[in-house]
Amino acid sequence: MSSKKITDIKGRMVFDSRGYPTVESEVQVDNNFYGTSISPSGASKGKKEALEKRDNDENIFLGNSINENIFIINNQIKDTLVGVNIEDQVLIDKKLIELDGTNNKSKIGANTTITVSMASLKAAAAVNKTSVWEYLNNSSEKKLPLPEIQIIGGGAHAKGSIPIQDFMIIPNGAPDFNTALHWVFKIYKLAGEKLYSQNKLYGVADEGGYWPHFNDITSVLDFLVKVIEDAGFEPYRQVSLSLDIAANNFKFNKKYKMSNKKNILFSSNDLYDYLLKLIKSYPIISIEDPFAEEDIDYFKKLKESSPSYLQVVGDDLVVTNTKLIKNAYNKNAINTILVKPNQIGTVTETSNALKLSNELNLMSILSARSGESEDNFISDLSVGWKMKQLKVGSFSRSERMSKWNQCLRIGEKFKDKYAMHKIWNF
Ligand code: PEP
Ligand code: MG
Repeated sequence: MSSKKITDIKGRMVFDSRGYPTVESEVQVDNNFYGTSISPSGASKGKKEALEKRDNDENIFLGNSINENIFIINNQIKDTLVGVNIEDQVLIDKKLIELDGTNNKSKIGANTTITVSMASLKAAAAVNKTSVWEYLNNSSEKKLPLPEIQIIGGGAHAKGSIPIQDFMIIPNGAPDFNTALHWVFKIYKLAGEKLYSQNKLYGVADEGGYWPHFNDITSVLDFLVKVIEDAGFEPYRQVSLSLDIAANNFKFNKKYKMSNKKNILFSSNDLYDYLLKLIKSYPIISIEDPFAEEDIDYFKKLKESSPSYLQVVGDDLVVTNTKLIKNAYNKNAINTILVKPNQIGTVTETSNALKLSNELNLMSILSARSGESEDNFISDLSVGWKMKQLKVGSFSRSERMSKWNQCLRIGEKFKDKYAMHKIWNF
């Protein structure tokens, strides 16, 4: 019989999808079972996110090396966790939190703690000779999340080519996950062909969505609606739009910079008027971080004047942090949270954020980061935790496709093959 005790932990440097160094942890149990996990990395971040620790030595990897993180894993973390029962995720995470001792993981880094935490969960599943999603979800309700897929990337993921970060689609009317991806394929491919033939294509942005040349935001939205329709889908009923405004990234000196070519500056109120007009004119059913985080009152204003089907999502606003989620809820600023494990630093704290959002009747979307890897843990987590929505970027580049592909492997095992959560009924 296996002892289920952690017998070794190793850290190593690997590279993420942007080619930057990132942390990988390997947790060994009973000298025999392993869990390995890689830290993702955000480009557009909330000010109150847990810290992504880097060595900051400009001579090595432009300041991005993570040698100290690896040293901490191979020494302090290993010393603290060897001997702990791998099935006690709460204790493992508690020890990581205590070892750090700060409220934002600024001592040992959330990019350090999250890899050990995720690798531990993988090792626990391995000891039990099962997958992570089955280890976490032994109920009869097994469904895949509704995907939110980036078609065009902008903002911090495309050097500010257009201020909005993610122009996404949600195949909200698809009957199952397999069909949803088929619809996404048609739209993604048609968008690429049209951009190419119109001489608008510069390549792909950080999450695999197209990096096009457009003069303004409404031209992008007009383009996307046309693509959806030309691909044979009905907006709202079958496929709708979703935006991550990521407004933190284009607010300077109290003004929102709406173009990187012209000097168009919006006040918070101007942005409110503008977004409300977009919401009323286009099939937008979800909008994330519509304002910078200090403009929380404008989140409320937008939510209260928008149609009831609209998801107002807090990402940078709440950074998977229970205190900030509670605050945003009390201020009636959001009805949905984005959940990103590395924003807070451990699986248990991520799970607490999710539990709180469920208690408060907030919708939640599990999300990857713009810097990713081949690690597809998040897909298992989505089904394991019964998440209703998943956002992992676009429909190209293997760090993105690995997540969709893992969802397919999982869905193949359901009694009701590829069953998927349904959220909107238009
Ligand atoms: C996001 O903002 O939702 C996102 C995934 O980007 P990043 O990882 O850069 O924060
Ligand atoms: Mg976001």
